[in-house]
Amino acid sequence: MMIVVNVVLNSPASYPGSIAAISNAKNDDYYMERLPGDDTGITNVGNVLVSEGKPGKVVQIHVKKRIGTISAFPDNIQQILAKRYEGKIVGLGGIFLTKHGELTQHVLESGTTEVTFLYYNMSAPIISAGAIVSSETDLAFAPYHFHGFSHLKSCGHYHFDVTPDEIEYLGYFTPAKVISRVKA
Ligand SMILES: [Zn+2]
Repeated sequence: MMIVVNVVLNSPASYPGSIAAISNAKNDDYYMERLPGDDTGITNVGNVLVSEGKPGKVVQIHVKKRIGTISAFPDNIQQILAKRYEGKIVGLGGIFLTKHGELTQHVLESGTTEVTFLYYNMSAPIISAGAIVSSETDLAFAPYHFHGFSHLKSCGHYHFDVTPDEIEYLGYFTPAKVISRVKA
């Protein structure tokens, strides 16, 4: 199972739910399910931005056609942050839209206690949400971690794009004031 979290507090007009990708490993496929709004469970690990959602300045990044060898969009951003803010910890969280191209994403195999990744190529448009941290901390975060979905049956943990000539991303990010780890 793979969850894309969408928790909206104090805003009843928005749907306060998450979408899960649930594997059907025997058929080498998966299906998507909307979770109830009050289901706040999370398995394994997740990097989440918590924001009040108020208007304000954000970082916009719009890129297309990959020319470098780093095939993950947030990996590129992370490495730029690491270089620019060497010795400091900078966290960015937000969303990006894959407008064109194809991504490799994984879904966790359901119904087993072992962690098994099932990889699928998924086509744009895909909306991904997650966070990036510029350097290692005592909190042992992944440098970046995004989950993406579309209503056209794409859902999973973002790894990289597989179509460098066609790929196009549009992202909006905000710097974090506080970085913390919640352990269940
Ligand atoms: Zn993940």
